[in-house]
Amino acid sequence: MKSVAINGYGTIGKRVADAVSAQDDMKIIGVSKTRPNYEARTAVEEKDYPLYIGIPEREGLFKEAGIEIAGTVEEMIQEADVVVDCTPGNIGPQNLEMYKKAGVKAIYQGGEDHDLTGLSFNAIANYDDSYGADYTRVVSCNTTGLTRTLSTIDPIADIKKVRAVMVRRGSDPSEIKKGPINAIVPNPPTVPSHHGPDVQTVMKGIDVTTMALLVPTTLMHQHNIMVEINNDVETEEIIEALEKRSRVIVVDAEAGLGSTAELMEYAKELGRNRNDLYEIPVWRESINVVGNELFYMQAVHQESDVVPENIDAIRALLEMESDNEKSIAKTNKAMGIL
Ligand code: NAD
Repeated sequence: MKSVAINGYGTIGKRVADAVSAQDDMKIIGVSKTRPNYEARTAVEEKDYPLYIGIPEREGLFKEAGIEIAGTVEEMIQEADVVVDCTPGNIGPQNLEMYKKAGVKAIYQGGEDHDLTGLSFNAIANYDDSYGADYTRVVSCNTTGLTRTLSTIDPIADIKKVRAVMVRRGSDPSEIKKGPINAIVPNPPTVPSHHGPDVQTVMKGIDVTTMALLVPTTLMHQHNIMVEINNDVETEEIIEALEKRSRVIVVDAEAGLGSTAELMEYAKELGRNRNDLYEIPVWRESINVVGNELFYMQAVHQESDVVPENIDAIRALLEMESDNEKSIAKTNKAMGIL
């Protein structure tokens, strides 16, 4: 049983904590917060996770709020085999020194640069690269979505190049100070966006160029993907490959799943923890091979698609399972992933 610490119990951190708890080969030994808010309270009172504080000077605030703390983050990581760093982007570099000093392995998230660890992770595309490593980075929600479907398509279609336009949610549902609330914002306004190079950190050598824009929605991202292919494949073969791939689902707009709103309702129907949709839904009607080009549209539940990837990254770093498909299957079973 491996011991996992979560540094940063926010949108991603609290989900990874629950996903770790659902596995039979790892356990949570602590989670950290910087503020004594409702998440800190539920971590202790509802989930029974020992709570450590990220900023020791704030101990008094937690005491005032009546939230029991177990110690500081530096103390938490002493007991851990691996720490999953889910702090906001760009906090990672300052934590790396602390992890090195404590001799603990660490997994970062997509808000950090690839250069921080020199390794990036996706369970389907490049599990082996992080096997036994000290540090890795699970790529962002958008990159995870692109990588899952592209790495499923490549073996049968032989991808020549990819062009993708990504419609990004303006903020997560609980964020009240971000936007836009009434605009479409090219973001970044420069082309290409950073997403293409990010895919190349896990799918080496792939020719991929991306453009992205923000829209006033909080539910999911949506991707429009155009792929030039070398092999002569039928639309049906692409659909079959995507249907077979776990963590990808082919959905029918005609069956009432024609929008991100309906997909989120579907996650509720499935009875998912926090209404999460870990899988990448691809619209069946959008999948179309025309000559040497493949077109498809997909969505990404930004708050949850990276969560199972973090579980597999733990198994890779700690050399708990050498076969990526076995780790994926184990994670999926414990989390009820399709
Ligand atoms: P968040 O703001 O929801 O949560 C971050 C947590 O870290 C908060 O609980 C905060 O209290 C804590 N924290 C802040 N400063 C800290 C510090 N110095 N030390 C310890 N803890 C600290 O952020 P998030 O959305 O969960 O994002 C975390 C990481 O995951 C980022 O790299 C982000 O880019 C990435 N990510 C986010 C999403 C998403 O849609 N939210 C999707 C994929 C990846």
